[in-house]
Amino acid sequence: MNRLTAVTLQDGLTVETVMYPYGTLCISSQAGCRMACPFCASGRKGLVRGLTAEEMLEQAQTEPKAKRITVSGIGEPLDNYEEVERFIRMSPLPVSVTTTASHPELLAKLLSLPHNGVMISLHGGSEEAHKKLVPKAPALSEIYAAISEAWKHMSVRSKKKIGLNYLPVEGINDSDEEIGLFAENAQRFPESSVHLLTLNKVQNSPFSPVSNERREEIFNFLREKGLNVRRANSFRRQEKGGCGTLWLKKYLD
Ligand code: SF4
Repeated sequence: MNRLTAVTLQDGLTVETVMYPYGTLCISSQAGCRMACPFCASGRKGLVRGLTAEEMLEQAQTEPKAKRITVSGIGEPLDNYEEVERFIRMSPLPVSVTTTASHPELLAKLLSLPHNGVMISLHGGSEEAHKKLVPKAPALSEIYAAISEAWKHMSVRSKKKIGLNYLPVEGINDSDEEIGLFAENAQRFPESSVHLLTLNKVQNSPFSPVSNERREEIFNFLREKGLNVRRANSFRRQEKGGCGTLWLKKYLD
């Protein structure tokens, strides 16, 4: 079972961590988030503040058995870039990061750090679908341009650590056309992997995950396009598999 833990910071703010049974600890980079992705609990109340690298380390130390850290919880890491970079450099454990590429110029810097993986959340084939799900992110064309530029300077080993995240949401980005457009762009980065995520439905949200059958179709379609596709593992698909749940309870109840 996943272990969801609320961590109270010195000023009384609470963030949360999720420990997955396979040894990955998911931590937060901010208290709240300005990105307001409509399917996510963490952005519902806006941004309160960015966390310091020490506060990220404090979260990492709550689970002595963690083998690796992922900064994929509450917050957009590029909105708090300097502290996230400091944390990556000071962490005794390997660190991966999930980002919406909110600042494309900082994405290139992030890709050049000694990270253990950068997952870029795209969630749309067309600009329109991307805008619906990640409304405050730059246009997909800007994000792909930033990745392309960084790609020229990266080793094959580094490129293999990059993930392109796609979260299929019913009626928004799950059509053949959307998936086809996404596949075309993903094919530009053949060493990367595509991470097919599963939506953890949030209270009062109109967004629903696609059916298991449709998910399989999308998975197979992307594979047939030659992409290295991975599904979210079963632990991340559990009710407590996504960050934002405790945050939502404490601040919205
Ligand atoms: S999905 Fe990530 S970037 Fe979007 S609101 Fe949630 S925490 Fe922020």
